[in-house]
Amino acid sequence: METETIQVALEPEKTSCSHKFKKLGISEHVLKAIEEEKFETPSEIQEKSIPHVLEGKDVIARASTGSGKTLAFGSVIFQDVKKDFGIQALILTPTRELAEQNNKALNKFSKHKPLNIISVYGGVSINPQIEDLESAEVVVGTPGRILDHLQRETIDLKQLKILVLDEADRMLDMGFRDDVEKIISQCPKKRQTLLFSATMSEDIIRLAQKYMNNPIEVSAEQYVDPTKLTQIYYDVEDNLKFSLLNHLLTKEEAKLVMVFCNTRRNVDFVANNLKANNLDVLPIHGGFSQDKRNKIMDRFHAHTAKILVCTDVAARGLDIKGVSHVYNYDIPADPKEYVHRIGRTARAGEEGKVINIVTSRDYENFSNIVDKGEIQIKNEQTPFIERARLGWMPERRGRFGGRDRGSRGGFGGRGRSGGDRGKSRSPYRDSHYSSSGKPSRTGSFDNPRSRDRDTGGSRGETGRSRSWSGNRDRDRSHDRRSSGSYGRSSSRGRSSSRSFGGGRNRRY
Ligand code: AMP
Repeated sequence: METETIQVALEPEKTSCSHKFKKLGISEHVLKAIEEEKFETPSEIQEKSIPHVLEGKDVIARASTGSGKTLAFGSVIFQDVKKDFGIQALILTPTRELAEQNNKALNKFSKHKPLNIISVYGGVSINPQIEDLESAEVVVGTPGRILDHLQRETIDLKQLKILVLDEADRMLDMGFRDDVEKIISQCPKKRQTLLFSATMSEDIIRLAQKYMNNPIEVSAEQYVDPTKLTQIYYDVEDNLKFSLLNHLLTKEEAKLVMVFCNTRRNVDFVANNLKANNLDVLPIHGGFSQDKRNKIMDRFHAHTAKILVCTDVAARGLDIKGVSHVYNYDIPADPKEYVHRIGRTARAGEEGKVINIVTSRDYENFSNIVDKGEIQIKNEQTPFIERARLGWMPERRGRFGGRDRGSRGGFGGRGRSGGDRGKSRSPYRDSHYSSSGKPSRTGSFDNPRSRDRDTGGSRGETGRSRSWSGNRDRDRSHDRRSSGSYGRSSSRGRSSSRSFGGGRNRRY
């Protein structure tokens, strides 16, 4: 694998912005769109990758969310793809949201010489896609649905010249390796392959070695500015976890806020209970219809509600401007996911704050993150907090996924809303179920490697859903303590050098 670093000459002060992009070799009609977008200078990954990409080389670009990678791979699409010559470019993305976002961005950059660019993903009807595919030149899609079209022979890749694997690390993490490989095997051998990934793992290298032709590797610095990023954690009792979140969301000055949970159920729980506490929040996870997800993201982009409660589906690839706070209501099981989550804030020169709400159930995950030693997270003393109202509880499902009658919550509903009085009879109490990302009680899932974890629903796209009979009662045992006291939650969190990690006595 060739590795190359490009020395970028400093521009004279009066050089126009389009000149800087022109020097990279970008086509005139795209330069016009760039000018209209008021981009002043190419981003690092654009500067480093576009010259190779335009030369037709295979390129591995290490670039994170928001680095400007769409224009980087788009540059050659806009240069080489011809109208009415069939599908010539395919961009594989891990999530539907990223497919939509890429589609919009590519359309924006190519508006002066429009191509027929379409997005193809699951969770929506397949028939309009079949029709659109007949006249498309560029397709952005999730692996499950693309494979579905290949199996139905409703997508023709014979004319394909450019294959882009966007967020390749994420696609592999989500268990799409086989699908991706099956798709690649149906692409013409003579093609240009571009791989974008925030992290480079052995798996990515293997994929590149297998399917890329002498690729050039370029990498850009993380877009997040560490000097602008503050990371803290609170260490609280399980049964004050939600109350602390509610307290902080109410008290902290913020622009846009993302609250991350590990499971769909936790997103529902947190979002509904924040609403019950009069906070205007938007929930998003892979269990929602695609139409609903698109509408929610549009509302968040438009700042109509400033708190998004989400699974990791929303963490990657999406370009959301103005996120000042990231909360980890659940600590992610995978340290890489932590890095992706915090990458949503402290961008483009703005300040950002990451707040981790750690309980005993998160210790193992949290230890895995801080043990790497690269991340500094300061312990913050837990403030006096009032116990928040807990009016909403998740539906309990029976052994075969059916409803367990009588267990339904509801605001101010029967029997389950005692949390605000500090003496809930609910077995769920404040924080109530798996934060580990490991299998919880739900019986349906759409990713082979992450059952109750959210993967955006892409697996379900091909109709290959599975049933599972894991430990459905796991989450009931979580709330062992039942302290209903107000105020400072526990002795934890008072010291800034508390040790974690199951008696391993590590200090942070
Ligand atoms: P991407 O990583 O392609 O999703 O891009 C992230 C955001 O940066 C998008 O809103 C782009 O429109 C924007 N962007 C891309 N390139 C540049 C640039 N050279 N200067 C300023 N903004 C850019």
